[in-house]
Amino acid sequence: MAKIENQAALMSTYARFPITITKGKGTYVWDDKNEMYLDFTSGIATCNLGHVPDPVAQKLHQQLDTLWHCSNLYEIPLQTKLAEELVLYSQFDQVFFCNSGAEANEAALKIARKYAKDHGHSERTSVVSFKDSFHGRTFATLSVTGQEKVQKGYEPLMPGVRSLNFNEESDLGKIHNGKTAAVLLELVQGEGGVNPAHKEWLHSLQDICQAYDILLMVDEVQTGMGRTGTLFAYEQYGIEPDVLTLAKGLGSGFPIGAMLAKTHVAKSFTPGTHGTTFGGNPLAAAAGVATLSEMTKPGFMKEVQKKAAFFKEQLEHLANQFSVIKKVKGMGFLIGIEVDMEAKELVTLLQEKHILTLTAGPKVLRILPPLTVTTEEINEFLQKFEEVLISIQKSK
Ligand SMILES: *Cc1c(COP(=O)(O)O)cnc(C)c1O
Repeated sequence: MAKIENQAALMSTYARFPITITKGKGTYVWDDKNEMYLDFTSGIATCNLGHVPDPVAQKLHQQLDTLWHCSNLYEIPLQTKLAEELVLYSQFDQVFFCNSGAEANEAALKIARKYAKDHGHSERTSVVSFKDSFHGRTFATLSVTGQEKVQKGYEPLMPGVRSLNFNEESDLGKIHNGKTAAVLLELVQGEGGVNPAHKEWLHSLQDICQAYDILLMVDEVQTGMGRTGTLFAYEQYGIEPDVLTLAKGLGSGFPIGAMLAKTHVAKSFTPGTHGTTFGGNPLAAAAGVATLSEMTKPGFMKEVQKKAAFFKEQLEHLANQFSVIKKVKGMGFLIGIEVDMEAKELVTLLQEKHILTLTAGPKVLRILPPLTVTTEEINEFLQKFEEVLISIQKSK
């Protein structure tokens, strides 16, 4: 068969930056020309312990020589251990492992329907989610994602999804309509602009869910694993969700996802009702165990909170000096800087100074340093960022 000439072998699902990253350590990555970059993206909130963190690397090396994979039809001690530790450090009772954030949310959406049926509510097949949310790229998870650009071209979407306004008091009355099985939300909308949920609104939402036995499911794929300054973001809100999903930071870059649930919900998954080949395999579980063990060391999160508070204070300081910054938002090391320009341009200008950042929508610069970032590295970022801001101000 003749091939189309000059056509890239990879499908073009990504608009990639013109940088080829070949190595990483801590907060730095190197490209194929051995140029060094300060990485304030953490592989999109994934390498939360920095690149190739020693304790996780050691555990993975060990596991590489022992057992890579065996099916979930057998006991996997490391998977059990990771589940036990997630249960210990959260308010959930049981865990299901998968490979990604989308799959974790799929599991949540599936258990919500099953839970409703198991409790005599087979009419409850609907899910409420929110505008500007992001929950993944599979059919079910793109259907609950509140962004048209993610859904366009893939219609018809999963039926029964209702999209309400995030942080909108007046929309709360629409949650219960007799058909709603669950509410799924991010506590800080990551991709959608770094928007934290308002505490009071969230508590009202929880009250409604509890009153009607609607499951409250939090997507902590991005906010989880220390990103917001506590192991899980829900801790800071003082809420008690029924279900929580994790992925990104759980394996420090080794693919693993998880769906955590309280016992009354978890009971709806029985042998044969859900499954996966790779989910929580020995390598993934090893990465998860080592990652969690680092983050739960005494004082680790305190240190993250201290550094994040310092960073935020300094960014606020820059916001007061430079009118291009409209607002500094976010929690912990999930930071959004709302700007009066195309955030993409800012990413490019910072890249020229060998600083990697992200956007969250057209007008928000998203900054996600690893939790292990040092004060020196934060200062390096601030200095380069200020240089960029000065050059923007001059060119105006
Ligand atoms: C990244 C992300 C997902 C999707 O995770 P994948 O591993 O890419 O499938 C889901 N929800 C949130 C909040 C995310 O940030």
